[in-house]
Amino acid sequence: MDRVPIYLFVTGGVISSLGKGLTASSIGLLLERQGYPVAMIKLDPYLNIDPGTMSPYQHGEVYVTTDGVETDLDLGHYHRFTNALLTKNSSATAGQIYEAVLRKERHGEYLGSTVQVIPHVTDEIKRRLRACAAQLKGFGFVIVEIGGTVGDIESLPFLEAIRQFRCEQTNPCLNLHVTYVPYIKSAGETKTKPTQHSVQALRQIGIFPDLILCRTETTVGEEERAKIQLFCNVNENSVFDLPDVDLIYDVPLVLHRQNVEAAILGRVGLKEKPVDLSDWEQATRVTKPHPPEVRIGVVGKYIKHQDAYKSLYEALYHASCKVGCKLKIEKLDPETVDHDGFPKAFRGLDGYLIPGGFGTRGWEGKIEAAKYCREDKVPYFGICLGMQILAVEFARDVLGLKKANSSEMDLDSPDPVISLLSEQKQVKDLGGTMRLGVYPCHLAKPSKAYHAYGLEDVGERHRHRYEFNNLYKADFEKNGARISGTSPDGSLCEIMEIADHPWMVGVQFHPEFASKPIAPHPLFTAFIQASLNHSKARGQKA
Ligand code: GLN
Repeated sequence: MDRVPIYLFVTGGVISSLGKGLTASSIGLLLERQGYPVAMIKLDPYLNIDPGTMSPYQHGEVYVTTDGVETDLDLGHYHRFTNALLTKNSSATAGQIYEAVLRKERHGEYLGSTVQVIPHVTDEIKRRLRACAAQLKGFGFVIVEIGGTVGDIESLPFLEAIRQFRCEQTNPCLNLHVTYVPYIKSAGETKTKPTQHSVQALRQIGIFPDLILCRTETTVGEEERAKIQLFCNVNENSVFDLPDVDLIYDVPLVLHRQNVEAAILGRVGLKEKPVDLSDWEQATRVTKPHPPEVRIGVVGKYIKHQDAYKSLYEALYHASCKVGCKLKIEKLDPETVDHDGFPKAFRGLDGYLIPGGFGTRGWEGKIEAAKYCREDKVPYFGICLGMQILAVEFARDVLGLKKANSSEMDLDSPDPVISLLSEQKQVKDLGGTMRLGVYPCHLAKPSKAYHAYGLEDVGERHRHRYEFNNLYKADFEKNGARISGTSPDGSLCEIMEIADHPWMVGVQFHPEFASKPIAPHPLFTAFIQASLNHSKARGQKA
């Protein structure tokens, strides 16, 4: 008989931002290395159907799955650390759960019952937990991260659902509690009381942690460990450290050194085997001595929020490890750029990246960045909105269409070189209605894009409503812009490059979502390489 999957529930205590997502991902990686496939799901207690309509200031990046679901940025960590298949079954919000329950109620599916949190909402949550397990190929683990902090009103139905799930005994279940253990400087002491309280709160609702992972600035001493073990009612070898690390990719190594995987496997009757993580270690850092530095300017309006461009920063980092250079990211605010051109203070970096975005704020400043890169032949990588900016700048300055614009920014522009996708014209609702998920893209040969991928056909993830307006295609191509990637029928421009330029490439999709440390995205690698070449060439000239 097939063995049933094992569920690992990851909760968080005391405060938010403890890195539950990174912890869950790291454990996923360690279990995969032990030979067990993992499936992963994030449960988010907020009432939005998905984070797609939330401001990046509220929520950070919106991560898009290949099947076109807008999800929490933790799924980006799951992708970068594990091989888990991430789909619509890999995230669920309270909004989605309630929507499903209410839809069933309207259909009369509850046959006259009073519809309640228990059992109807909790049943729907449990249905989602089982749907996630269906993504597993073979016997393995389902890692369930519960957003929020234990004690929040919103997370109660989720916690109740996992309590019931364990009691039903259909699947072996383990609870991992990630908690905060503060060090009080003035007293010179590490305090376990907040952890005791958060575990008490869990126990009150019938959840008993099996493992406790302590976020600390340094490490938890033996005395504190024994205290946590005693007061939180866990076995020996159940309390682990999650110290601050400089590099997020070191979290699996830190856990591996404490042999967390043995503790997990041992509790479900499995034996751990020795594994070698040196490939991971190597892929996540530059190993050669004295690597050159590459300085990349990211020109985006959400630079102040450290998670708003999470996948993008990580993709740059993966590429820099592969190329073998130290990465320095300069975050540049396009709203501070006026019409006097790209500011001096922003110039002189080795490459510039314009991320995706929406709305007029900072738009003209980003166009100045593109103009500077095109004229001074500095590497430029435009992602989604960044490709649209490349096109508008080119139309204005090279084609002389002074009022060229995207119709997102100026509906009355006489030259809308970027216009609404025809499929978007009837769309009224904002949530989940963009062109989303993976679409095929055919590359022209030779081109910088083809050179980077080494493939003629690729598939990449999208999240946009506007597209390049093909009425201008001939004019663009005649004057030195190259459409080097299109939808297979040729109707949509997916990649645009400037021919007479070392590396100026814009893509209508989001390659950053696909990059992993062990498989950096080829376009990011090509961009970093071009930026390094630019830096070296400039050094020689000086
Ligand atoms: N706002 C642009 C569009 O909707 C770009 C979107 C993006 O950068 N993700 O087409």
